[in-house]
Amino acid sequence: MDHTAAPPVPLDAATSARLSRQPRSATKPEVTLRRELHRRGLRFRVNHPRLPGRPDIAFTRAKVAVFVDGCFWHCCPDHGTLPRNNRDWWRVKLGQNVARDRVKDAALVELGWTVLHVWEHEAASAAADRVEAEWLRRLPMISD
Ligand SMILES: [Zn+2]
Repeated sequence: MDHTAAPPVPLDAATSARLSRQPRSATKPEVTLRRELHRRGLRFRVNHPRLPGRPDIAFTRAKVAVFVDGCFWHCCPDHGTLPRNNRDWWRVKLGQNVARDRVKDAALVELGWTVLHVWEHEAASAAADRVEAEWLRRLPMISD
């Protein structure tokens, strides 16, 4: 079935859950950022299965979650585009992605986490600076 021709429908809970369980391979910007953070001595969990949205990078004690967002799939203000074909379908589809991102963010915040989003176009060093700064900011809040 050509899924691009399917009408846009909001994902029901079961479909959503199934999709979120599917293993996703790491993108290059993710790998590069993880490598840079690791080089700086930071240690984290990858795709933590028990956290909303399975963050790409999770600092469990500092409670900082990081998502590396693709410019196309997450509608980057600089590089987000709408394909010419099935434009309306894509508008809805990508809009749902962004809406889901915000729902996941809210769920994490509810659990006391800080959420950072990094665009795939960001330089790894600049992204790592942001992540490290947030991690440092949260350190005093770690009780043990
Ligand atoms: Zn971008």
